[in-house]
This record gives sequence, C-alpha cells and structure tokens, in this order.
Amino acid sequence: MFNHSYLEEIFIKYGFEGFKWINPKEIIVAQWVRMKCIFGCPTKTACCPPNTPTVEICKSFLQEYDIGVIFHIPKIVTPEFRHEWSREVNLKLFELERETFIAGYEKAFAIFMDSCHICANCRKERFSCANPSKARPSPEAMAIDVVRTARQYGFPIDVLPDYSSVMNRYAFLLLE
Ligand code: SF4
Repeated sequence: MFNHSYLEEIFIKYGFEGFKWINPKEIIVAQWVRMKCIFGCPTKTACCPPNTPTVEICKSFLQEYDIGVIFHIPKIVTPEFRHEWSREVNLKLFELERETFIAGYEKAFAIFMDSCHICANCRKERFSCANPSKARPSPEAMAIDVVRTARQYGFPIDVLPDYSSVMNRYAFLLLE
C-alpha cells in the first residue's frame, strides 16, 4: 500500500521540494538521446553508455513500474562547481532511494540528476566502478528524453546559452 504523505516527507527531508507523482510508463525514451550520449557528450562515466542497457531495455525497464516521481532541481551553477553540485544531489538521491527501499518499496530505483560524479576520477568501466552499490545512471544515460518528459508534466526546461540562467535539472525515483 502506497503511503504518499510518508514518502513526500522523505523527499522534502532530502531537499527535494519540487516534484510530481508520475506514471513511469509515460517517461519518454528515444534513440536520439542515446546517439547524443555516444557522440558529442564529453562526460564518460561507468554509468554512461556503453555501460548502460540498450534503449529497448531502458524502455521496457520503465514499463515495469506503475508509480514514480520526477524531481525538479533548479539552480544557477558555475562550470567549476557543476560536478560538485551533481555529486551532492546524486548522493542525496541515493540515500532517498535507500530509505524508500528500507521502508518496504523493494523496487525503489533512483535515476540521478546528472552523470554519477560520486568519485573525483571515475573508473569509466562498469566492472571497475569504485562505488557500484551507490552508482546510478542519469536520465540521459537511460535514453530518457528529459526535455519532452519534463514539459509534459508542466516543468520548465530549455537549452541555455550560458551559465548565467537557472539550470533546470531533473531526476527520477521509480517505486513499488
Ligand atoms: S561511483 Fe565512481 S567509478 Fe562508479 S560510476 Fe560513479 S564516479 Fe564512476
């Protein structure tokens, strides 16, 4: 039995005040996202392609859940602090996932806000990951079209020309 108010207290405790309950089956997954990850993204962690499942498996994985949460995480951040911010938020998401798992939601799975960045120097290969119990993929690494998915729930998201504007990032929690 889902206890929404109990779970919402946990989200707020970890600082995630902007969120919406969603049906994970509505999360948009697309091949173009995977293509952008492989070609053009300079960040390659042990939680990025080719260390993540195929686009088809990512899509079918999301179909196995009936309840999820999208977290809106806005911030103005300078390039030199971006990875530090990602690390801080991603570790909170891991703790949040752990707390919901212990509360009896055995399928709890967090999708990080950004590439892992838990370690200062990522090992780059899944099988040599330094923190395999904590590392989780980003939405993009799961081929999630974050732009269309966030917009369909009424959240703001745009490509930003520089770092002077608010960056609207998103993370997910899948539950059951
Ligand atoms: S835990 Fe460390 S080694 Fe593993 S994916 Fe994250 S940054 Fe890379």
